[in-house]
Amino acid sequence: MELTRDALEIPETLKGKYEPVIGLEVHVQLRTRSKIFCGCSTRFGDPPNTNSCPVCLGLPGALPVLNREAVAMAVKAALALNCRVNSFSRFARKNYFYPDLPKGYQISQFDQPLAEHGWIEIRSEEGQAEGGPQEKGTKRIGITRLHMEEDAGKSIHDGFPDSQDKSYVDLNRSGTPLAEIVSEPDLRSSAEAYDYLTRLKQILEYLDVSDCNMEEGSLRCDANVSVRPRGQQELGVKAEIKNLNSFRYLQKALDYEIARQTQLLERGEKVVQETRLWNLEQQKTVSMRSKEYAHDYRYFPEPDLLPLAVSDAWQKEIQQTLPELPDAKRRRMVSQYKLREYDAEVLTASQALAGYYEKVAAAGADPKLAANWVMGNLLGALKAAGKQIGESPVSPEALAGLLALIQDKTLSGKMAKSVFEEMLSTSESAKTIVGRMGLSQITDSDQIRDTIRNVIAANPKQLAQYKSGKTSLIGFFVGQVMKETKGQANPQKVNELLKEELGGA
Ligand code: ADP
Ligand code: MG
Ligand code: ZN
Repeated sequence: MELTRDALEIPETLKGKYEPVIGLEVHVQLRTRSKIFCGCSTRFGDPPNTNSCPVCLGLPGALPVLNREAVAMAVKAALALNCRVNSFSRFARKNYFYPDLPKGYQISQFDQPLAEHGWIEIRSEEGQAEGGPQEKGTKRIGITRLHMEEDAGKSIHDGFPDSQDKSYVDLNRSGTPLAEIVSEPDLRSSAEAYDYLTRLKQILEYLDVSDCNMEEGSLRCDANVSVRPRGQQELGVKAEIKNLNSFRYLQKALDYEIARQTQLLERGEKVVQETRLWNLEQQKTVSMRSKEYAHDYRYFPEPDLLPLAVSDAWQKEIQQTLPELPDAKRRRMVSQYKLREYDAEVLTASQALAGYYEKVAAAGADPKLAANWVMGNLLGALKAAGKQIGESPVSPEALAGLLALIQDKTLSGKMAKSVFEEMLSTSESAKTIVGRMGLSQITDSDQIRDTIRNVIAANPKQLAQYKSGKTSLIGFFVGQVMKETKGQANPQKVNELLKEELGGA
């Protein structure tokens, strides 16, 4: 039974009665230059079938040779995800037939994976008591395993003039190294799943082991979800949702699936264990195959490859190449710069952004002012221009120069904004622009007082009204003074001096 779209809303009472359980399986392409078992290039977007050889075409007699760099990247990811790396692991054949899998099996890992028993810390409203030291509002999601495998080729069903009745296969991707990262069924909502995937992607990006480009398929996610009555220990029957190629689809598909299963259980019906697909047009999950047709992959150890040995020494060597990871960086930035938790979270979204911010601070800017400017004005302007932080027309040093002029009161906040606009288009320093535009702030009391007196003299009517009690007219006078000084008078001073000059009402 399928639900209509409006059935997606489940009443709050049912939300209290049932609990969703989610586990994610994430495939990530490792960004080696060559494939996992041959020397072919992994470059994305090359003409179809130009990066292939007897090994990745699956020709009889061709033998795989393991790419050391791929192992190094997988180990690096495993260590960053707090996994235990096994000193011996084994490759296995996973047998199935598909047109984009020329060998008739995929080389993967099965009962002896590269790494196990890891975790990621996510944000959670529920929180969780068990486990190690944790901040409030965080929760550890277990990582069951990280194993290595080869990617399959790609079947192309459309995009050709004659693709009505034909399909094509591109084997450029065949043999691209993948790490598969399997989570424990520890996630309890679509929001937690979203946060888990966000943080996993962020860690992999920090490590530079994958470009994590979801549109190009470098990061792919399958979601397993079940629902059970709250308080029940035993897990419910799960459905697996395949090929969720964006964060938004992941969340939508989970919400739909949770609602569907909740309603089934509430009606006393059973959830069938099956694989489902997110259907974009219908905005729902649809059954792809039930477990009755489930594959029996007949795994067996890959006879053409030796067991994989990762020595302690190599592990240590790789451990030393780990960069400061997002959580550690965020915590350090909170204590070093006295930032708010939220600001540190935003500023550590990427290493490049955090690096930019730290350069502004290192150039002497007030850390909080710098955080506000980077997160607000700078990111806003870059977003509007479709630019990455690395392409910023304003360098961190130049931004620090602008902030120094705010701190020493040369510029008001408002003037700084217009100087910043100019910096964005010319990449000049703030000082140069301030000089050229004759922009610096007037803080000299005598000069401001002169202007105030002129303004008062020119507006006797408003003065009389003010004196008779309409004190809100102070705003009018401030406006006139700012106009006379082309916005350059220090607003605080103007206010102070105006009150003096206007006298009591
Ligand atoms: P399968 O044998 O069907 O592939 P696995 O035990 O390998 O199942 O688990 C695959 C993924 O599904 C893991 O991420 C795991 O956490 C998750 N999972 C397993 N059982 C459940 C369940 N009952 N509900 C939700 N997720 C589950
Ligand atoms: Mg599985
Ligand atoms: Zn090849």
